[in-house]
Amino acid sequence: MDFQSTLFQFILPSQCPCCEEFLEEGQGGICPKCLSEIHWITPPFCTICGIPFISEEVENHPCGACITYRNYFTMARALGTYEGILQAAIHRWKYEGKTSLTPFFGEWMAEGLKRYWTPDFFDFLIPVPLHIERLRERGFNQALLLAKEISGRTGIPYRKKMLQKKKSTPPQVNLSGAEREQALRGVFQATEEEELLGKSILLVDDVYTTGATVNECSKVLLKGGAKRVDVLTLAHAVKNY
Ligand SMILES: [Zn+2]
Ligand SMILES: [Zn+2]
Repeated sequence: MDFQSTLFQFILPSQCPCCEEFLEEGQGGICPKCLSEIHWITPPFCTICGIPFISEEVENHPCGACITYRNYFTMARALGTYEGILQAAIHRWKYEGKTSLTPFFGEWMAEGLKRYWTPDFFDFLIPVPLHIERLRERGFNQALLLAKEISGRTGIPYRKKMLQKKKSTPPQVNLSGAEREQALRGVFQATEEEELLGKSILLVDDVYTTGATVNECSKVLLKGGAKRVDVLTLAHAVKNY
């Protein structure tokens, strides 16, 4: 470390990228308080969509929603619940350009991947795509940032063109499950189908909200020739169900 950066560090102690509190000397990254406040998802959870169950007395099993509706993906898993400090951090990262969080999120997701699967299980990581207009607005696709980070840590190649979003969709907060499915029909398209044929895919996104988007993406990838699709997100929404 050169003199200037030493001096810079001395004058400006590093900040936690989650809560923006200044850290004690010698500390870096996300502070212990933030780490302890994240609701990390542990069993029991739904064997299909991965939503955690409140009762700790049960074994992992499919949740009511997964029994009622057909999911095209085999297994979705997330690191934490989408609330509190993790929700705030994702918001800051996605909408306020706090990109210093990207490697931390990537590290957690790579660990999650190794916990629930093995890296050699997958042929490709595919980020959930953004429509070109949204991409221009935001400047980056958050799912692609995560896929790149996970790829670097697991050696699984990522493909950003295999799945494309052809139409932009309005926010789906007030739609029912069936209406969401309807609204997403024809929105995504699988390309490079020769390469997709017979492959095991891990779809990557930041938040699993209702699952409608990843489900539609999974359907399109399976129709495009993929053998199996699983889903990994940073967070899983647990409210408004
Ligand atoms: Zn913090
Ligand atoms: Zn479920």
